[in-house]
Amino acid sequence: MIKALLDYQEKDAELREIELTLSGSEERKKALSAKKYLDGVEASINKLDLKAAELSSAYEKCLADFGKLKEQENEFKTAAEEAEDMNAIDYLGKKTDELLGQIRTLSATVARIEEEIKGVIAEFAQTKKKTAAAQVQYKENAPKYAELKNSLKEKQETAKKELDGLKSKVDPALMERYLKKRASFYPVIYEIKGNACGFCSMQLSMSEAGKLKNGEIIECEHCGRLLFTK
Ligand SMILES: [Zn+2]
Repeated sequence: MIKALLDYQEKDAELREIELTLSGSEERKKALSAKKYLDGVEASINKLDLKAAELSSAYEKCLADFGKLKEQENEFKTAAEEAEDMNAIDYLGKKTDELLGQIRTLSATVARIEEEIKGVIAEFAQTKKKTAAAQVQYKENAPKYAELKNSLKEKQETAKKELDGLKSKVDPALMERYLKKRASFYPVIYEIKGNACGFCSMQLSMSEAGKLKNGEIIECEHCGRLLFTK
């Protein structure tokens, strides 16, 4: 029973190697990272659009407030020029000072908004540049990756066919256990070394070691590899 699975695992190395060549290929990595950027870029642009709209309305409000304050300032000036009573002149002078303070605060706010607007514009430009670069990267690498995949297709199919042949000799329940683990690592099944896991060297518990002696295939409690003994 174990022999059939070991034969399967040995042959499975070919398939594994093809998978690693594909998943580790630079073309795949570059195409995927470009695609990931391009998939997310619309959301980034929407966010920037929203920020730009908010800043623009805040800016317009400031300008409107600014106009009102300037108007008031002129009114006070005219009134101060026309006033004859000293108290009234004093009062108008104080009011004008208050107004100037408000104008200064507002000017600072306007300057801050202008800086933020510049930041958003720069971000838009950056996004545009990055998008163009990602499009080029994707266009260059996606076909290269497809080519690589295509070049390995025959080898991959042959390996799969041969594995299917070997699969029929393995106990189905054991095969299922193997394949479940195979999705995360390879090799899956190891012979024990002394009383320890053949992969991670963790000592087996008494009960697990007992099961091995009964001819069972156990699972390392530490690394999850399947274990057998001859
Ligand atoms: Zn282990």
